[in-house]
This record gives sequence, C-alpha cells and structure tokens, in this order.
Amino acid sequence: MEINEKILEKYAKVAVTMGVNVQKGQTLILNTSIDAVPLTRAVVKAAYEAGAKQVQVNYGDDIVSKYHYTYQDLETLKTVPQWLIDSKLDYMKDGTACMLRICSDVPGILKDVDGEKLGKAMQARAAAMKELNAYTMANKIQWSIVAAPNAEWAKQVFPKDDEETAVSKLWDAILHAMRIDEENDPIAAWDEHNRTLAEREQKLNDMKLKKLHFTNGRCTDLTIEIPDDGIWAGGNEKTTSGIVFNPNMPTEEIFTMPYKYGVNGTVYASKPLDYNGKLIDDFWFTFKDGKVVDYGAKQEPEALKSLVEFDEGSCYLGEVALVPYESPISLSNILFLNTLFDENASCHLALGKAYPMNIVGGTEMSDEELAAHGVNLSDTHVDFMFGTADMKITGFDQNGKELSIFDQGNFVF
Ligand code: ZN
Ligand code: ZN
Repeated sequence: MEINEKILEKYAKVAVTMGVNVQKGQTLILNTSIDAVPLTRAVVKAAYEAGAKQVQVNYGDDIVSKYHYTYQDLETLKTVPQWLIDSKLDYMKDGTACMLRICSDVPGILKDVDGEKLGKAMQARAAAMKELNAYTMANKIQWSIVAAPNAEWAKQVFPKDDEETAVSKLWDAILHAMRIDEENDPIAAWDEHNRTLAEREQKLNDMKLKKLHFTNGRCTDLTIEIPDDGIWAGGNEKTTSGIVFNPNMPTEEIFTMPYKYGVNGTVYASKPLDYNGKLIDDFWFTFKDGKVVDYGAKQEPEALKSLVEFDEGSCYLGEVALVPYESPISLSNILFLNTLFDENASCHLALGKAYPMNIVGGTEMSDEELAAHGVNLSDTHVDFMFGTADMKITGFDQNGKELSIFDQGNFVF
C-alpha cells in the first residue's frame, strides 16, 4: 500500500522537528530499514529543510540480519570493527550530531536462531557499542525513534486480513498513535500532549515519593523504592546543552529510576515482549532487594534467561514507567508486538541500565558515582509491560504518608 505523500511529509516533519529536533548545521545520523524507503526519503528531505548540514543514512534489512545471525560463527558475530563504531562516534564526538531511528522490525524474526549464540553475540555487541550508546543514554545528543510498518509485521498484528489491508491498518494505527491525520496540525497536537505529560511529571515530582506499591488481579504485588533525589520525566527532554527533543514517538509514559536495591515482590507481565527477535510471553519475575531471584516464561523461556543473565546489571531494574490504561494506544486495543508502541499502552519496567537523567546531577556523574547512588548500570535496557485495567498504585512520601497514584489502571489526578 502506498501511503499518500502529504501524510508522509507530515510524519517526516513530526519526526524531524518534534522528535529529534534537527538544528541548523547538525549532522543527522538516520538508522532505518529497507522496508521504510518512502518515509526515509521524506525524513532526509525534511532534515535538510530544517537546516541539517548532512544526513547519514544507514539502511538495515531484517532478513539479511537473520542470515548473519544464522550463518556466521559466534566469533565473527562478536567482533565489531572499530570503523563501524567510528562511523557514528566521530559525528557525536564533534558535538553536532543527532540521531533518528526508523524502526520497522519483524516481531520474532530471529526465533530460529540458536538462543545461546544470539545472547552471547548481543552481549559482545552491546559492550562494543557502550561508548556510542552513552551519548543517547545520557542525553548528550538529541535522539528519537519512530516506526514504519512492513508487511510481515502487519500480518502478525492483523492475522485475519490480507497483506494490503493489514499494512493499511498498521499505518492507520501508527499514525493515530503519532497524533497525525489528514487535517490536523500534528506539531500543535504534540505541543499540547507534551504539556499534559509535563503537568503529570510535575505532580509526581512534587509528591517526593519514596516508594511505590503496585497491585492488580494478575497477582502482581511489587514495591519499588525511588532514590531520594530521583526525578520523574516524560514527554520531551533536554540535551545536556539544552536542546528540547522527544526521544520516543509515540510516548505516553512518565518514568523514573528505581533504587537499585529497593525492589521487592513479584510482577507478572501483561503483554508479550519481542526481545532480540524472540517473542517472550506469559512471564514473571520475583525480586528481592532489587535483584531478580526467580523468574519464568511459558514461551521462549531461554530468551528470558539470556535477558536476565545478560550481564551483572540485567537482573536489576533501571526504569519504572507509569502509563494510564486509557491512553490512545491502549484504547486502540491493538497488540503491536513492538515495544515502542506496547510500552506506551501499559505501565512498564526495564531490566538493565537506568537513565542518568532520572537522578539529580546524574548526567554529570561517572559510572562509579552513579553506582554509589544506587543507580543500576548495565549494557542493556529492556522494557517489559505489566500494566492492566485494574492496576492500583499507592505511593509513600518521605514521611511515610500514603498517596493514591493509580486506581483502576489510570492516574487519579
Ligand atoms: Zn519507558
Ligand atoms: Zn525503557
């Protein structure tokens, strides 16, 4: 299905100006997919119109990646040549780069690849990319992610439809989540949405919460402590040099970091998780003093194991995010099988690295200082969804006072 030109231009403009917010004279690093060629071209044009000095386009192909992971031996997969890292790092080091990803993943694409090999390869690659990823994790540059459909993905989301209908439906769902239609001004819609998120963020920060208690009918019963100088964030963010950008689009979440050693209880996931091309489903974790001490999954348990055992920090949490059950993505009742969307339809947690900006002064701290503040460090960060229509969240402030945050899946304020 060909999406009409006007909509594509609108989408590209939202991604370039609201998302990554390309500044005059910047280099845009655009990581994209061969399944998203029309959107990629529209984004390149929009970026130049916004004043980009140059746009570096890196096309990926999920099927080719699958062949790499299937046929290359582990040693080859684990080897990341320095030139590949430098091809992006060079632009970031000179301080004028920004980065956009157009995601068009096929859910479960690597399901037939040997799990142990895949896990080890991903671990080595993440370690090699550590310096590169630090630029986005600490908001040293503007970065954003948007999505474009592909036929395989669309057929998994809408299995009863023929390919053309499925792709068309997935486009509609993505555009709806992105607050874009034929008639509206999506930039104004995003400004308004960012304001709503900022108000909620302010309320949560004013509460000075020390602890959150989550319960629902799925038997989730989890308490999460928040560091004393923890910061709630959501919607748009600022780089360390003060440029505003929207890191994930769409976004509906308000999030902070858990105190690394302050998570206790059991949480049941409420949606499947596409982890490195493996679709993990029906899974749960039990935490003690922050650490995953027990877990299980009915589908792809081996992939879950490789996530938990990824590195020293992957068995601790790095993010707790609140998303109302009545958000547009949630109300669409579509299971996207893609974290960019599903995490914005549901309260979620992330195993692995915490965002340094979620603690006062964090983006200026060394790894040692972050660790001393109870901030989880890891080479990975993987969100999983646990929100439900009956989610109840009670907060406790510094004086132990009880504050209602969520009732029946939604913010009480
Ligand atoms: Zn999140
Ligand atoms: Zn996350």
